[in-house]
Amino acid sequence: MDILVVGSGGREHAICWSLAKSPKSGTVYCAPGNAGIAEVAEIVPIGVSEFDKLTSFAKDKQIELVVIGPDDPLAEGIVDAFEAEGIPVFGPSKNAAHIEGSKTFMKDLLHKYEIPTAAYEKFDNYEAALDYLRGQPVPIVIKADGLAAGKGVTVAFTREEAEQALADIMVSQVFGAAGNQVVIEEFMTGQEMSILAFVDGETVRAMPAAQDHKQVFDEDQGPNTGGMGTYSPLPHIAQSIIDEAIETIIKPTAKAMVSEGRSFRGVLFAGLMITPDGKPKTIEFNARFGDPETQVVLPRLKSDLLEIFLAAVNGTLAEVEIHWSDEAAVCVVLASPGYPAAYPKGLLIQGHDQVQEAIVFHAGTARNTDGDLVTNGGRVLGVVGLGASIAEARSKAYTEAERITFEGKHYRRDIAAKALM
Ligand code: ATP
Repeated sequence: MDILVVGSGGREHAICWSLAKSPKSGTVYCAPGNAGIAEVAEIVPIGVSEFDKLTSFAKDKQIELVVIGPDDPLAEGIVDAFEAEGIPVFGPSKNAAHIEGSKTFMKDLLHKYEIPTAAYEKFDNYEAALDYLRGQPVPIVIKADGLAAGKGVTVAFTREEAEQALADIMVSQVFGAAGNQVVIEEFMTGQEMSILAFVDGETVRAMPAAQDHKQVFDEDQGPNTGGMGTYSPLPHIAQSIIDEAIETIIKPTAKAMVSEGRSFRGVLFAGLMITPDGKPKTIEFNARFGDPETQVVLPRLKSDLLEIFLAAVNGTLAEVEIHWSDEAAVCVVLASPGYPAAYPKGLLIQGHDQVQEAIVFHAGTARNTDGDLVTNGGRVLGVVGLGASIAEARSKAYTEAERITFEGKHYRRDIAAKALM
C-alpha cells in the first residue's frame, strides 16, 4: 500500500523510517521531506499547507493512507481536506486539533471535565488581564491562546517580565491573532514528562513516556527551543505515576472530546508536570507526534506502525497489537550556530555516513547542487542511541554525535542526565 507522510522534520523522518519497515508498505512518499527522509521515502516537493496540491497528488498516486506530522496544517483542516476526497488519513480533524490550536479551549475543556491542570484565568481584554495579573503572585505563566511555534509561553519570574509578556501578546501582537486571547496560569513546579498516545475516539493506546529538554543550554539554561533532546523510558519516574496520568488525564480527555462532538483520531500528546505531591497535572495537549519525542519512541516500537495507523483509521485501535521494546533510547539534537535565534543555512555536514551505532534522523538538512549534505534548519540532526540502559543508549548517542561535524554545531551535553542521578 502506498502512503503519503506530510512534513519535513526529524519527527517525519522517524515516521517514514518506521513505516518503511512494514511488510505492507509500498512506496512511502513524503511532502516536502528532507535529505534524510529521501533515503527511506520518495520526496514530493509540495508544502504542508498546499492542501489542493497534496490531495491531487494523493488521488493521482492512489494513496491508501496519509499521515500528518506538523501542527499548523492540522489546525488549518488538512485532515478534513483529505477526508472530503475520501482518502484515509491518520490525524485529527480541524475540530479535534483545536485542543492544541487554542489554549483557552483546552483549559476550559479540562476545567469542565475536572481533569487535573494548573489553575488559570483567560482574557480577551488587555486592561482586564493586566488588572488580574497585578493581583497574582510571581512566578506566573502567560500564554498566547493560539499556535506560536512554541514561543507563545512565558514563565515569568518577575512582575516586569509578566507584564512585558502580556503587552507583547495583547498590545504589540507579536504572535498576531494567536494573541487575541491569553491564558494566565498558576506556576507549577516538578518534573515534566511527555506521554503520547494513539487515540481513536475513546480508545487510548499510550506509548512509553519520554522527556524533552526545551532550553538550548545545559542545565536548562537559555531560551526555549523546539527541543534539544529526548529519552525514553524514564527510569526515575514510577510506572504508577505514568499510569495515573494515562487514567486521570489522557483517557478522560479523549472521552471529553467525544462528548463535545470533537472526537479525536490521531496522536494525542500530553505535556505533564509531576507536582511535588507526586500527582501528574496537564501543562498542554498537542494534537500530533512530538518532535523530538517521536525519535525516541518509535525506535522502541516492536509492532508494525502501519497496522496501528490503519487500525485507528478503521476503528479497530482497541484490538491491534502494540508492543514496545525494553531498550532505552536517547536522542541528542545537533543544532545550527545561533539557533534558536537566527542561523545560517547551507553549512557542509560531514561524518554522518560514518555513524555505526546510532540512528541519525534528519531535521533541517538538504543537498546542495554538488549533492553534498548541508544544514537547512535550526535543528539539523537527531542522533539516537539505543541500548540496554539509558547509560548505554546515551553513550552511543554522544559518541556518534561527536563524529558528525558542521561549522558552529552545538548540542546539549546533559541529555538524559536526570535519569542517571
Ligand atoms: P510547545 O508546543 O513547544 O511544547 P507551547 O507553546 O505549547 O510549547 P507549553 O507546552 O504550554 O507551550 O509551555 C512551554 C513550557 O513552559 C512547558 O514545557 C513548561 O516547561 C513551561 N510551562 C508551561 N506552563 C507551565 C506552568 N503552568 N507551570 C510551570 N511551567 C510551565
